[in-house]
Amino acid sequence: MRVVFMGPPGAGKGTQAALLAAELGVPHISTGDIFRANVAEGTALGKEAQRYMDAGEYVPDTVTNAMVRDRLTHDDCRPGFLLDGYPRTVEQVAELDAMLRSAGHALDVVVELTVEIDEVVGRLVKRAAEQGRTDDSEDVIRRRLEVYAEQTAPLLTTYSDRGLLVQVDGMGGVEDVTSRLLAVVVVD
Ligand code: ADP
Repeated sequence: MRVVFMGPPGAGKGTQAALLAAELGVPHISTGDIFRANVAEGTALGKEAQRYMDAGEYVPDTVTNAMVRDRLTHDDCRPGFLLDGYPRTVEQVAELDAMLRSAGHALDVVVELTVEIDEVVGRLVKRAAEQGRTDDSEDVIRRRLEVYAEQTAPLLTTYSDRGLLVQVDGMGGVEDVTSRLLAVVVVD
């Protein structure tokens, strides 16, 4: 099963994506997590990515695409994968299409976790306090939401036109959201 998971910052994507990937028996590949791990380890990739992340901007496509291309060649991706936070730009969609095509594969479903924007800002401010993420200050949060609206929200139309998009209400408790998700994706 090959799944793309989308939703604005603070939609609770990471939590739900991990649960869903476990349920489907495929690796949970979060570009945000991979970037943060690289920042923590002080790798060259981490140093490059950090200045964009801290400003609420996207890491350049060339960097992100190369990272995902490499990750998808790992053996654990043979049965499929769940991509969380990728693709986020038109260019990344084209790149993912090319990666899948050359492997003779296709996406099965694109899940959008939908939330109300006021709720999202509240969640992110809370997470900033709890986890101390450097990209969770209020200015940066606002910028990340803008970037999402400008660059990523349009991709939902692309996937909807391809008949791949499934929308799941991301409001409410973690367990409620998980049951909704499993109901539409796993039974699918
Ligand atoms: P969130 O969804 O809460 O914004 P993520 O953990 O998915 O957080 O991503 C954190 C940051 O990592 C993004 O703001 C961006 O700078 C970078 N990033 C993650 N995925 C991508 C991507 N596909 N393309 C470019 N930058 C990315």
